[in-house]
Amino acid sequence: MAIDSHMHINSIVLEDKKKYINSINNNSSIESVINVGLNIASSKEAINISKSNPKFFSSIGIHPLYIESQELKTLYDLALNPSVVAIGEIGLDNTKSNFEEQKRYLIKQILIANELKLPVIIHSNNCNKLVIDIFEKYAKPKYGCVFHCFQPNLEDLKYLVDNDFYISFAGRITYKTAKKSIEIAKIVPNNLFLIETDSPYISPEPLRGEINESSNIKYIINKLAEVRQSSYEEIEKITNENAKRLFTKIKLKKYAVI
Ligand SMILES: [Zn+2]
Repeated sequence: MAIDSHMHINSIVLEDKKKYINSINNNSSIESVINVGLNIASSKEAINISKSNPKFFSSIGIHPLYIESQELKTLYDLALNPSVVAIGEIGLDNTKSNFEEQKRYLIKQILIANELKLPVIIHSNNCNKLVIDIFEKYAKPKYGCVFHCFQPNLEDLKYLVDNDFYISFAGRITYKTAKKSIEIAKIVPNNLFLIETDSPYISPEPLRGEINESSNIKYIINKLAEVRQSSYEEIEKITNENAKRLFTKIKLKKYAVI
């Protein structure tokens, strides 16, 4: 059973949320999913969904593209909820030019995560160096970190590995153009990578262009097994262990459910 370490329910792309949530609950190949908030409203919704659906955990945060009129104090209060396993997605995105504001939100949210002993999920769109610079100068995650949908770069990978930070592979790794991601997937240590769908976005091959669903995590596992000359079961097992090591509260809830 796989752990989809990064997905979204809260998107307008998925019209029938209830049906979709149930399809995950009933899917015997998915152990659990981390439903990731993008702003206060979607973070609240992620927490609510996790309350009544044992496979769902929540990560809450203010995404760099959605910082307008978002209260960090509210985020702090929400983060106290036991179903919250991480702060994110947070980070920097170069498609908007309000970098100073984005940096301020990123730094404050890392500090919240550190205070509450939570890991962070980083969104970095062509900004790996700037995010790393913020870690070194202002606020470094103390309880773990994953760069979701990692944009491949050897130097950045070295920094992350040296700090025991994780990277996560999404549907892009199945694309023919993903040569650099495949090089990274060959060399990342066994204990430092996760898998995610980032659904409903970035559908893997052969479903490119369609709405992505958590069940498509199998295509990402298959590709990693091929690239790392490993087996499907081994990739599933490794990424499962890695997710539970990084998101320690997943373990707690599982024991509680049993
Ligand atoms: Zn995402």
